[in-house]
Amino acid sequence: MKTWEEVPFAGYILEPGNAESYRTGDWRSRQKPVINQEKCTFCLLCWIYCPDGAITRRESKVEIDYYHCKGCGICAYECPSGAIRMKSEAEEA
Ligand code: SF4
Ligand code: SF4
Repeated sequence: MKTWEEVPFAGYILEPGNAESYRTGDWRSRQKPVINQEKCTFCLLCWIYCPDGAITRRESKVEIDYYHCKGCGICAYECPSGAIRMKSEAEEA
């Protein structure tokens, strides 16, 4: 696998506001966040911190949009209840 120093060009963004159209979850890191709804207090910190807007609010619970989640782990790091765990893509959710 190449590092960022070995990749000759970065990607081009030709139109602003188009991130929603791309399936960024396709190149997620090898881990994905999984929410334990029983531990979740619906504080919404994960929703605020997610840099990709990949956490959705649905009534009184939050869900991960794996179509856009890149697996950065910020949500798991910031969750004060320990309700989000990063799991290997190979693990069952
Ligand atoms: S940060 Fe944790 S406790 Fe708060 S809404 Fe997200 S998953 Fe639930
Ligand atoms: S792992 Fe990163 S991109 Fe995915 S939901 Fe959490 S904060 Fe958002």
